[in-house]
Amino acid sequence: SMLAYLDHHATTPCDPAVLAAMAPWWNGNFANPSSRLYRPALEAAAAVEVARGRVGRAVDAAPEAVLFTSGATEANNLALRGVAEAALERGEPRRGLVTLASEHRAVLDPLAWLHRHGFPLTVLPLQSDGLVALDRLAASLGSDTLLLSVMAANNEIGVLQPLVEIAALCRERGVLLHCDAAQAVGHIPLEPASLGIDLLSLSGHKLYGPKGIGALVVRPGVPLAAQQHGGGQERGLRAGTLPVPLVVGLGAAIELALADRQAREQRLGALRDRLWQALAALGDVQLNGTLQHRLPHNLNVTIGGVDGTRLHQALRRQLAVSSGSACSTGSPSHVLAALGRSRQEAAASIRFGLGRGTTAEEIDLAIAAVSAAVVELR
Ligand SMILES: *Cc1c(COP(=O)(O)O)cnc(C)c1O
Repeated sequence: SMLAYLDHHATTPCDPAVLAAMAPWWNGNFANPSSRLYRPALEAAAAVEVARGRVGRAVDAAPEAVLFTSGATEANNLALRGVAEAALERGEPRRGLVTLASEHRAVLDPLAWLHRHGFPLTVLPLQSDGLVALDRLAASLGSDTLLLSVMAANNEIGVLQPLVEIAALCRERGVLLHCDAAQAVGHIPLEPASLGIDLLSLSGHKLYGPKGIGALVVRPGVPLAAQQHGGGQERGLRAGTLPVPLVVGLGAAIELALADRQAREQRLGALRDRLWQALAALGDVQLNGTLQHRLPHNLNVTIGGVDGTRLHQALRRQLAVSSGSACSTGSPSHVLAALGRSRQEAAASIRFGLGRGTTAEEIDLAIAAVSAAVVELR
């Protein structure tokens, strides 16, 4: 029987056009782009620069602002640890770090590491709709604050924080702003430069590109210390031989994602709304996070009156979706916990991530599968 893949926040399939763009760079032209003396190497270097330009254009940045990394996890680590280390090196008195409770672990964990190494850390709570209270955020940014890290779109509940207002607060107070945009780039309009985002992380496999590639986009003049030392690639800020096929794939994927973004947003938004209306009609179903400020292809709900483990067991052969708890430990997702959901509620939560390949039939299947499970388990 059919398995509907509705877990596009975990990862997306690599688009066939992206695979085709990558193909020549594995063993056709396999030269190292840093070997500047012969033609294939110069061609590989040129292909890297074309991809760099595409990534830059997608986020309103100059090509020089783009540093290729292995993904958003590494980009976040480079941004946060790199800014902190650069501050230490130049004797910057500001040390404070601020973030939100709903950030990805790839932001929370490097910040916790910095906290253990002498950087005061403030983790702000969420309101029940998943948004940060701006007055509370403003109050947390002081003359000793070095950096604020806020994601553009949440990977569990799809909530979009008010980046325009947040960026303005940072500018006023001289605080650097890092934004984990792994779930936003290629999905929603985002203009980091005009917003005033200083550092932005993105990931290839969240936008129909390959796994193992991403980028940190750094506004010119932002002090950043390398976190990986070696061959001096990426202006000395991220050493390591560039994975040319992956870099080319990221460039192709980001261009493709921009080309069909609006049509995809509209189509998936309509499917998501249909899914939400059908699930809400089951009764005792809570929406996690506001519907107004949200990725159009995300839905996250808590189903009342059912056991979470049995719910997901009932769904797993028909639907590839995520639950609100880590399967191994049963501990609730920190994002749902920040919304006030209990352990039981988190386990009985379903995250739906629709994507480019999602069909109306798959949404019908999801509605039927959840409805049947709820009737059986209640
Ligand atoms: C997936 C994801 C990451 C991690 O990205 P990788 O490229 O897999 O390292 C970080 N942040 C967010 C918001 C994500 O969704």
